[in-house]
Amino acid sequence: MASGIASLLDRKVLDRDGILALLQCSEDEAPLLFRRAAAIRDRYVGNHVYLRGLIEYSNICGKNCLYCGVRRDNDKIVRYTLTRDEVLEAAMNAYNLRFGSIAIQSGENSSNNFTDTIEELVRTIRQMTDGKLGITLSLGEQSRETYKRWYDAGAHRYLLRIEASSEALYRRVHPDDDMHRYSRRLECLKTIQETGYQTGTGVMVGLPYQTMGDLVDDVIFMRDFDIDMCGMGPFIEHSDTPLGKRGTDNLFLRERFNLTLRMIAILRIIMKDINIVASTAMQTIDPAGREKAISCGANVVMPNLTPARYRAGYQIYEGKPGYREVNESNVSGLNLDLIPGMTLGLEAWGDTPHFGRRLNKK
Ligand code: SF4
Repeated sequence: MASGIASLLDRKVLDRDGILALLQCSEDEAPLLFRRAAAIRDRYVGNHVYLRGLIEYSNICGKNCLYCGVRRDNDKIVRYTLTRDEVLEAAMNAYNLRFGSIAIQSGENSSNNFTDTIEELVRTIRQMTDGKLGITLSLGEQSRETYKRWYDAGAHRYLLRIEASSEALYRRVHPDDDMHRYSRRLECLKTIQETGYQTGTGVMVGLPYQTMGDLVDDVIFMRDFDIDMCGMGPFIEHSDTPLGKRGTDNLFLRERFNLTLRMIAILRIIMKDINIVASTAMQTIDPAGREKAISCGANVVMPNLTPARYRAGYQIYEGKPGYREVNESNVSGLNLDLIPGMTLGLEAWGDTPHFGRRLNKK
């Protein structure tokens, strides 16, 4: 019966038990949770879906995360780095399609050449678009100086997923070495926030060893960290990784998908005015996965603008879709008929009210 969660949804503050109860609510109750989250999204950040054109700059990565197909030890993929012209062309494509922002993502690399190149690209893209195209970076753990240089060049959002806010779980899905320290990840997130970026993080839902309690703690972590943006998605195995060896069970994937919808809805109810991504991983499990995530409170999508010939090389998880191609007649790749009432936030950065509020609190 819907009444089971109705009283929870009316609470001003959701505690641990309340979050857990929502996460575990029945299939009959879930639509009420989703509708409430969507209404809160409409009220606090509007009924717009903002677009971040994704540019997967390079799949060269110094790390070896146990779940990731791009990991250093996976010798089955062809490594690539986009040329300067290819990045600029993709950015101009986003601009011409009236995207408000792009997101540049890459395997982790802290070499001087890499940091210099990103700095120059950010600066050039801002100049080429008269400062109109917003730039999100998702380039992993870097030094304070590097974060600052990229910020000064014109990047204004940074996404660094914690992946698992429980340190114990984090250690189970990463190699146990100095390159993969939980404490370092946390420190970087704080540095990103201090540098002035709109700061995003996120987790994987349905990781091996993950408990429902871990997911509750993930929500609390994001609330307490006061993030501005969240990108989370279901864990999907990649067979060329240590965590992918178990193989994929479709029914299990569907459970992860359903849990992710609940995580999105709960986070929206708790953090009303942040940006939440409807991830491509959702689309991997369900062709309408992103639209369903939007119906549960998400408000951002990241259509892929990486030149098509490189996309097979950026399979962080397996089965990443070939993407509905974006073009002038469908710039988001979304089926807008499935999300009535939502409009595309074109030519707008789509900054979160949360970010301004967070700065004012200081
Ligand atoms: S998750 Fe990121 S840092 Fe880890 S191996 Fe994959 S690309 Fe590298």
